[in-house]
Amino acid sequence: MTAQHEFAAWADLSAQEIVERALKELPAPACFTCSFQAEDVAVLHLLRQVQPDIPVLFLETGYHFPETIAYRDKIAGEWHLNLHNLQASISVSEQESQFGILNQTDPTRCCDIRKVGPLWEGLRGYKTWFTGLRREQSPTRANMKVAERHVLPTGEELFKISPAAAWKWDEVWAYLTINEIEALPLYEQGYTSIGCAPCTSKPTGDDLRSGRWGGRKLECGIHTFTEARS
Ligand code: SF4
Repeated sequence: MTAQHEFAAWADLSAQEIVERALKELPAPACFTCSFQAEDVAVLHLLRQVQPDIPVLFLETGYHFPETIAYRDKIAGEWHLNLHNLQASISVSEQESQFGILNQTDPTRCCDIRKVGPLWEGLRGYKTWFTGLRREQSPTRANMKVAERHVLPTGEELFKISPAAAWKWDEVWAYLTINEIEALPLYEQGYTSIGCAPCTSKPTGDDLRSGRWGGRKLECGIHTFTEARS
């Protein structure tokens, strides 16, 4: 495997084929970042068929819906996940006493403390990073590739692989239905993108992520803090 690995042909592969090739051809160790939203659970299901013990990195921000935490624990138990809960260096109460309610006053800083920093640390040492990102989710993701080479702020390189990049919303739900996988119950209430509770509301338009951060932003930063090289 070289840095010049040719990924162009991967665009025509199925999500299952991408998972199989990536786990076979790209350098180990690999990990998967998982929010336990529908597409993430579908990709996790695919990954586990090849590597059941793949490390699953969950950003435990302290601000999640109770339903998300309960669902995470249910899936983790039933699927025997190798779950890693990544946490910030300060607790929610410490953050709020020092800085106030940052998710209202400065959500970028809040995301930096509770998501970007912990993920940066959590990804260190991994050579291949799987995600459940899809192009359809947001204009900010419309041009992402199935396989990209990224550089962490430390200078470390890793491959970022998004097997479901081309999937549409209907395909996600078809996958869950065919494989009899129960989704996070919050979808039944009308949410289409689910993150921390204070920053998640129901969509305000066609954009599936339009209910995040009250429309003030579309990305928390965990998919923009690395630099894409290919
Ligand atoms: S999504 Fe909201 S609550 Fe969660 S880390 Fe970002 S600003 Fe804070």
